[in-house]
Amino acid sequence: VKKIGVLTSGGDSPGMNAAIRAVVRSAIDFEMDIVGIRRGYNGLINGDAVVLDSRSVSDIIQRGGTFLYTARCMEFMNPEGRQLGLEMAQKLGLDGLVVIGGDGSFRGAEKLSELGMPTVGIPGTIDNDIVCTEYSIGFDTACNIALEAVDRLRDTALSHEKCSLIEVMGRYAGHLALQVGVAAGATAVLVPEKVSDIEKDICEKIREGRSSGKTHYIVIVAEGYKDKIDDIAKLIETQTDISTRVTVLGHIQRGGSPTVMDRVIAARMGYRAVDLLRKGIGNRIVAIKNNEVVDYNINEALCMKKSIDLELCEICKSIAK
Ligand code: ADP
Repeated sequence: VKKIGVLTSGGDSPGMNAAIRAVVRSAIDFEMDIVGIRRGYNGLINGDAVVLDSRSVSDIIQRGGTFLYTARCMEFMNPEGRQLGLEMAQKLGLDGLVVIGGDGSFRGAEKLSELGMPTVGIPGTIDNDIVCTEYSIGFDTACNIALEAVDRLRDTALSHEKCSLIEVMGRYAGHLALQVGVAAGATAVLVPEKVSDIEKDICEKIREGRSSGKTHYIVIVAEGYKDKIDDIAKLIETQTDISTRVTVLGHIQRGGSPTVMDRVIAARMGYRAVDLLRKGIGNRIVAIKNNEVVDYNINEALCMKKSIDLELCEICKSIAK
């Protein structure tokens, strides 16, 4: 293997730049040429490529987002588009491709592998909803950003003796909400994986808290929870007579400088991805299992199951008083 490419695809996450840097620097260390493909699979189809050297990835390790840009690409969903992508990869002289993204991006990578272009996926998403891996790049940073915001909201909830309902991201998964809820000392966390009883799990807790002198409450709601946050807020207000305030954190959770954890995972995953391609191994996804870097066949990886940490849900309930 002499020349490989790297692209970021789907939603961005903090630490993608650190992963690109690790891919570029390890490739160079293994004496391979490395090309950055801009704007995901669009760039692959259009030949939007830049030759990268060690200095091209200087000063990006601490930056959120992805300097290669990311995009969604409808054309790549059909065989004609993928054929064009393959032809461009061949024209660029690529012997392999690293795809940093989520499940959708990995499906695309799998199909490129089937066409004969070895690909390795690196999980990058703040939602941590990629089932084959305990951690995806960006998750820890997003948790910390959301936590800081919740701590700030707690100050004002305390001063005004309110109940603060805070919506965090996570798509259809509650991993982010649960981590943030536990770390922020929330009264309750609502996640899509579990149906909660607003009366029993929140209103009762608020009344109990009030009788023991508690004056303010934090409730974390995952964006994928079945009910609208405004409706939940209204219900809590009617049932407990406490003033409620809704805050939707939104995309601030996706930006900012990556944490130590995200940078280190990015380095470990980036290195492994290049090492696989160097050995001519493709159709893999790099993952973290029991804190070790592992890799799986793409299809097997996408068919795995991952559930929310139910023990942590119980702990959260038990210590919220
Ligand atoms: P993510 O990678 O974060 O899950 P998407 O699901 O939007 O984000 O996928 C990113 C891109 O990957 C899509 O725009 C498309 O180009 C490609 N892709 C997604 N699903 C497939 C698929 N089934 N086959 C081929 N390419 C796909």
